[in-house]
Amino acid sequence: MGFLGGPQMPERLALPARVVDIVSEIQRLVFEMYDHYIERAGYGWKSSEGALTIELGTYFDRAEDGSMPSPSISIYSYIFDLSGRGGRTHYFDNPRVALAAVREAHAREMRTATCPTCESDIEAGTECRWCLDG
Ligand SMILES: [Zn+2]
Repeated sequence: MGFLGGPQMPERLALPARVVDIVSEIQRLVFEMYDHYIERAGYGWKSSEGALTIELGTYFDRAEDGSMPSPSISIYSYIFDLSGRGGRTHYFDNPRVALAAVREAHAREMRTATCPTCESDIEAGTECRWCLDG
């Protein structure tokens, strides 16, 4: 069917419960990372840290039955490279991909400490390699 008289219009927004669960878990992990970072380092953030955007797709993404594809997720973070691609807005095609990436970044942050001498990021429980010679 063409665009005119094409896909049905959904009666109301249908965001599946599992998507809400995944996005809630993503936000919980991201906020926990900030708690940890601010506790150990305490500087260098931007005002939009941790802003999470759920994008539902466009007019053209609708299936014939009116259903929409899985929403995409964007998370703003200047401090954490959540996507592994750098930049500040970390984009993910769907919530499951975002959760996997955030879990990895969360694990990385939770095993990071700050060197009390030079303030470099170091692995928790290890000596700072920059300060060993000093
Ligand atoms: Zn150091």
